[in-house]
Amino acid sequence: MKEFTGKRVVILGSTGSIGESALKVARELGPDQMQVVGLAAGTRHEELAAQAKEFGVRDVCIYDESRRSALEELLPGGNVSAGAEGLMELATLANADMILVSIVGTAGLLPTLAAIEAGKDLAIASKEILVMAGEIVMTAAREKGVNVLPVDSEHNAIFQCLEGQRGDSISRLILTASGGPFRTWEKEKLAHVTLAQALKHPTWSMGQKITIDSATMFNKGLEMIEARWLFGVGMEKVDVIVHPQSIVHSMVEYLDGSVLAQLSTTDMCFPIQYAVTWPARCPTGLKPLDFAELAKLEFEAAREDAFPAVRLAREAGLAGGCLPAVLNAANEVAVDAFVQGRLGFTRIAEVVESTMEKLASHQGQTLEEILAADTRARELAQKALAV
Ligand code: NAD
Ligand code: MG
Repeated sequence: MKEFTGKRVVILGSTGSIGESALKVARELGPDQMQVVGLAAGTRHEELAAQAKEFGVRDVCIYDESRRSALEELLPGGNVSAGAEGLMELATLANADMILVSIVGTAGLLPTLAAIEAGKDLAIASKEILVMAGEIVMTAAREKGVNVLPVDSEHNAIFQCLEGQRGDSISRLILTASGGPFRTWEKEKLAHVTLAQALKHPTWSMGQKITIDSATMFNKGLEMIEARWLFGVGMEKVDVIVHPQSIVHSMVEYLDGSVLAQLSTTDMCFPIQYAVTWPARCPTGLKPLDFAELAKLEFEAAREDAFPAVRLAREAGLAGGCLPAVLNAANEVAVDAFVQGRLGFTRIAEVVESTMEKLASHQGQTLEEILAADTRARELAQKALAV
């Protein structure tokens, strides 16, 4: 029998935008290179069952426990788990090589740490967990000798630009940002932004939370902190440049002034596939770049006066400790309130800033301290919504 040389992958968050793209990649690569061996989702059990049937997956988890029996009925013979415990089971599945973490928010943090402990390689899309506890995740991964492959397109690009280079010759990581739907809007108009306007991203099609984060620029702020932990550089070496076409996915500047960039068409299947097949490169069914058609690539400075998120993230990253977790938690609460129509668009950054101010002296960097800061920040942000 031919030996299997591909990857056996568990997808946590399989019904989301990244999860669906990951399944597209699995179809494209075929079972010789990527086998899906476990699937987990939050609430959509019917979609999860359909995915499990298509890929012949036995181990599935639905976070919402009330849907467990409905899922079991749809998957007779399946091994169905639920809740936080179920996520842990899938993250440590015996026959998995790699865990793709694509759950929105921070619910993937403890499963990620469990996966590392079980010696699984990680492909991480969930930037929130790296913002919250990047140092802990990366230290644990180093100690266990597991690989952490970035799925976020900017970080996947930087990962590619760093291959074969020496870490001590990096002078800057330059994250590109599309600028979101309000890139050119006057600051005064931003207070009246509606949910529908914020959900119209100019270049990427993504889940709701990250789309709002892109409109406020908190997405880029979170990515700055994500980058410093993934690549082990100081916060002062992480820069942002607005690039409306989203073709240059990010760049690395070296000490000699040389800049390496990674380019491709705008599709998350590129970084997902590279995370799965790394260090190999495989053909994709995706459209190659046509430079004549593109004609121009533009760059401009981020407008930090209109979009305070980049400044706030830089401050949180420089301060370290629990402050990145505080920024992330307050942002999750504020985005949720904006989506529910309870908070104005520009109030998102105000709620984050006031929560950071209240917890600025909150010390600590252990997992317990970070989880406590996350909880406290959520409480304070909820209170700040009313002000
Ligand atoms: P999404 O909202 O489309 O999907 C989220 C997925 O997580 C769904 O499958 C949902 O069922 C699942 N989920 C939510 N809570 C869960 C829980 N407690 N337990 C198990 N599953 C749960 O989000 P998305 O756009 O796919 O983004 C996922 C993550 O990837 C986010 O952290 C985001 O920042 C990051 N990311 C997304 C993109 C993108 O293009 N969408 C790009 C880069 C990074
Ligand atoms: Mg990104």
